[in-house]
Amino acid sequence: MRAQGRSPVASRPSTWLGTTLSVVEGSQVASPKSYVVAAVLLVSIFLLAPAMPSAQAARRRVTLVVTGGIVVTQNATRQVLNPGAVAIDGADIVAVDTPQAILAGYDAAETIDARGQVVLPGLINTHTHAPMVLYRGLADDLALMDWLQKYIFPAEAKTVSPEMVRVGTRLAALEMIESGTTMYADMYYFEEEIAKATREAGLRGALGQTIIQFPVADAKTPAEALARTEVFIKAFKGDPLIIPSVAPHALYTNDRETLTAAAALARQYDVPLLTHLAETKDEVDIIRKDRQNTPTGYLESLGLLGPKTLVAHAVWVSDDDIEILKRRLPGIAHNPESNMKLASGVAPVTKYLAANLAVGLGTDGAASNNDLDMFEAMRQASFLAKVANHDPTVVPAQVALDMATIGGARALGMDKVLGSLEPGKHADLIAVSMSATRQTPIYEPVSHLVYVTRGDDVRTTIVNGKVLMKDRQVRTLNRAAVIADANKFAERVRAAVR
Ligand SMILES: [Zn+2]
Repeated sequence: MRAQGRSPVASRPSTWLGTTLSVVEGSQVASPKSYVVAAVLLVSIFLLAPAMPSAQAARRRVTLVVTGGIVVTQNATRQVLNPGAVAIDGADIVAVDTPQAILAGYDAAETIDARGQVVLPGLINTHTHAPMVLYRGLADDLALMDWLQKYIFPAEAKTVSPEMVRVGTRLAALEMIESGTTMYADMYYFEEEIAKATREAGLRGALGQTIIQFPVADAKTPAEALARTEVFIKAFKGDPLIIPSVAPHALYTNDRETLTAAAALARQYDVPLLTHLAETKDEVDIIRKDRQNTPTGYLESLGLLGPKTLVAHAVWVSDDDIEILKRRLPGIAHNPESNMKLASGVAPVTKYLAANLAVGLGTDGAASNNDLDMFEAMRQASFLAKVANHDPTVVPAQVALDMATIGGARALGMDKVLGSLEPGKHADLIAVSMSATRQTPIYEPVSHLVYVTRGDDVRTTIVNGKVLMKDRQVRTLNRAAVIADANKFAERVRAAVR
């Protein structure tokens, strides 16, 4: 349900004033009682006057206004303003209203004309491995365990380094900014390099330092990985854009001791814990054989499931597992494209939604997708749910958009500050062109966002009030240099798997 153009807050005082004055004029021929009413109203006007913004009063100076587009707020009533405008001051949204109301109340240092575009909250990618864009298309059409053990782990063993992570994260950040992603959750190695590159690009990230049982590029033992994670958390805790996190890779790549130590570390510093859960049937078989439990049950038994936990995939779960998830309330990162490409299975998203669990959308790493386009992820999330349930009514466009915005914010425990365009929230928003042939005509903006829009249609990307891209010109990264560096690094990747 959406109201078109609610009564604008900023124009309310002048309307009220107009009504009041007409009462005062009318009172000249009215009864003594009316004089009393008029006097009370005049006193009220006098008392309220200093607090009332009006066309005559000084407009509030703000840093940025985005105006003229169809504003899909994603607020509690899923209100759409057509046209609408968003006023931003510093890092935060201060008002969302009609263009006239925003113009009357705010004087902007910079104004972005979004006519012909849809303005919406920035998309939140709840699961990826950013530097893996450098392995994009390296090995396709394989089962997860083959793909990991024959290609990805060997390629990583030979090429993962601080430099690889820097080059890869810049490429991923460029792709995310260009396709409307404003925040992402990540799990990889040398996460401090990812954090620095993310901050430089201006994106927001919940970034998890990977903890894994076998020797990897940035840690020879799990103890070393845990120590690294603690250093990483201390270095970035409190950063306005980076939320340092603990990321034990998975249940089948870590022993019990490592998993419980990872959970303890996350609790000690009150940071998110990111992990893969129940991605494949193989994982269920392994955990059942070794631990006599389901992956979800085992994770709960070790104390890893809680509201600060974000689990990726959660494909292979029983109804009892869903009861566990309802009890522990972790966020769930649904990765429809990766799950389809690796034939991992279909996550029971409709059951998660029915249980009111916090479901966000993820692309997973670009080696299993093969891009970071969240518009495509929305579309595939909707289509996959429909075909899996033999029901075209499930995961409608609005629900898919919810997962990519407010649902992702909820999954990350950040829905009070992100995920919708509302005063007081962080100014993470995008403006998307609706003028392509395939977008013509437009009846329903939310339908178009999910079913015909592509990442390339994004014109403007704003994070924390800062314009990262305007009219497709990225301001925080040198596009040509980022792409040249990635192509150069690809030669090393090619040699590694030869
Ligand atoms: Zn993953």
